[in-house]
Amino acid sequence: MVMKTGSEYIESLRRLKTKVYAFGERVTDLVDNPLFRPHINAAAVTYDMAHDPVAEDLVTAVSHLTGKRINRFTHIHQSTEDLVKKVKMLRMIARRTGTCFQRCVGFDALNALYSVTYEMDQNLGTNYHERFKEYLLYVQDTDIMVAGSMTDPKGDRSLRPSQQVDPDLYVHVVEKNEKGIVIRGAKAHQTGIVNSHEMLIMPTTAMTAEDAQYAVACAIPVDAPGVIHIFGRQTNDSRKNGQIDQGNARYGIVGGEALTVLENVFVPWERVFMCGEWQFAGTLVERFASYHRQNYGGCKGGVSDVIIGATALIADYNGVAKASHVRDKLTEMIHLTETLYAGSIACSAEGRPTPSGAYFVDPLLANITKLNVTRFIYEICRLSHDIAGGFIATLPSEQDLRCPEVGPYVEKYFRGVASVPTEDRIRIARLIENMTGGTALAESMHGAGSPQAQRVMIMRQGNLEQKKKLASILAGIPERD
Ligand SMILES: Cc1cc2nc3c(=O)[nH]c(=O)nc-3n(C[C@H](O)[C@H](O)[C@H](O)COP(=O)(O)OP(=O)(O)OC[C@H]3O[C@@H](n4cnc5c(N)ncnc54)[C@H](O)[C@@H]3O)c2cc1C
Repeated sequence: MVMKTGSEYIESLRRLKTKVYAFGERVTDLVDNPLFRPHINAAAVTYDMAHDPVAEDLVTAVSHLTGKRINRFTHIHQSTEDLVKKVKMLRMIARRTGTCFQRCVGFDALNALYSVTYEMDQNLGTNYHERFKEYLLYVQDTDIMVAGSMTDPKGDRSLRPSQQVDPDLYVHVVEKNEKGIVIRGAKAHQTGIVNSHEMLIMPTTAMTAEDAQYAVACAIPVDAPGVIHIFGRQTNDSRKNGQIDQGNARYGIVGGEALTVLENVFVPWERVFMCGEWQFAGTLVERFASYHRQNYGGCKGGVSDVIIGATALIADYNGVAKASHVRDKLTEMIHLTETLYAGSIACSAEGRPTPSGAYFVDPLLANITKLNVTRFIYEICRLSHDIAGGFIATLPSEQDLRCPEVGPYVEKYFRGVASVPTEDRIRIARLIENMTGGTALAESMHGAGSPQAQRVMIMRQGNLEQKKKLASILAGIPERD
C-alpha cells in the first residue's frame, strides 16, 4: 500500500508508453514538455498534499476494504463526513493550484461504479461488484491516477447511439471472447488523461435495448495497445509565448484535455464492469454526474478565491481599492463564491447510503450547485474584468516587456501606483486574463454536463407534485382524484 508523493507520481509517468499527439506530432517527452508539465504539476499537488500534515485529514482517508490509510482520491465515501471532506479538500487544493487538478473525475467514476455494480448484481444476478472491488484494491494499493471517461463524441445529438451513421461515435463492444472484450470508439474532452495511469470508461447516456453494445464500463491503462490521445489546445500552448503571458505557468488554466481514440482495444474480463446491461447505463450516468456536480462549489470555490485575491490586488495596484463600488463588487464576488461552496456542502451533508453501503450525495442539491456554477463563475469573472480594467485584454507581450527598444515604454506606461513594480501589475493582469478567459469559462459551463442536463435532473428530483399539494392545502383547494 503506497501513497505516492508528487515526485513519485511524476516519475511513474515516465514508465508509461502513452501515445500522445499534439500539433500533428507524436510526443516523446511528455513529462518534461512545457505543453503538458503545468497539468502534471497540478495533478502532483493531489499527491503531495496527502503528505502535508496540515492537509492530510482531508486528502487522506482510511480504506473500508483494507483499513489502511490511502489518498482520498481513491476512497469510497463511507459517510456524509467523507462527502463533506471531499468538498473541503477540493477547495483547499484549488486554492493552491488556481486551476483544475484533474483527479476528481476518476474519483467520481470509482464511486459511481462501486454502488452501481452492486445494484446491477442485486437486480440482474451479474457478478460485477466483486470484480470492481478487486480493481479498487489495485487502485488504492498503487495510488494511480484514474481518468473518468464518460463523454462520447456523440455525432448527431438527435440520434441514439445505435442510430448514428458511424457506429463508433459512441464507445461500443465489437468482440467478446473467453478472455475479454474488444472496444472501439473515442472519449472526448478527457481531463488529465495524458498524465493519468488508467481510464475508467462509462457510457455517456441512458440506453435502450437496441443500444446494448454501447452499455459498457471498463478500465484500461492509458497506454494500452490501440489507445491514441490527441491533445487539445491549451492556454499555455504556442498562443502564449512567455511565462508571464500564460498567467499561471506553473499549473496551467484548465485540465489538459484530450480526445482519446480507442482503436479496437482489448479489455480482459477482470476489468469489465458493465457489458450489455443497458438498463443500468442511465443510473450510472446520473450517479457519476451527481458526484461530479457536487465538486464544483469546492474546486471552483477555490479557483474563485484566487480570482478574488487577484482582483483585490489589481484594485490595490490601480489605486482604486477604497472606492465603494469596488468594495461592493469584491463583496459580491465573495458572496457568490460562498454560495457555491454552501451548495456543495449542503448536497454532501444531505447525502445518504446506497444499498452497497457507499454514500451518495443529494442529487437535487448537487445539480443546483453545478447550475449555479454555470452562472456565478461568469458573474465573478465579469466583476473581475470590471475592476481590473481593459488592459488585461490589450497588454503587450512578455517579449515586449523584455525588449530593449520598447520595454522601457511598457514599464513606464503600464505602471499603476508608484509603489508597485510594473511587472507585478502585469503578472496579476495576466493571471486574471487567463483565469477568467474563454477556456476556463467553458469548463464551468460544460464540465460535468451542460446546464440543460442539470435542469432535466432538477425537474426530475424537484418533486413538483408534492409542491402542488403544499400550495393546494394552503389555498384551501380540496384534494381530487
Ligand atoms: C474543460 C472540460 C473538461 C471535461 N472533462 C471531462 C472528463 O474528464 N471526462 C469526460 O467524460 N467528460 C469531460 N467533459 C465533457 C463534458 O461532460 C461535456 O462537455 C458535456 O457533457 C457537454 O457535452 P458536449 O461538449 O458534447 O456538448 P453537447 O452535448 O453538444 O451540448 C451542446 C449544447 O447542445 C445541447 N444538446 C445536446 N444534445 C441535445 C439533444 N439531444 N437535444 C437538445 N439539446 C441538446 C446541450 O444542452 C448544450 O446546450 C469535459 C468538458 C470540458 C469543457
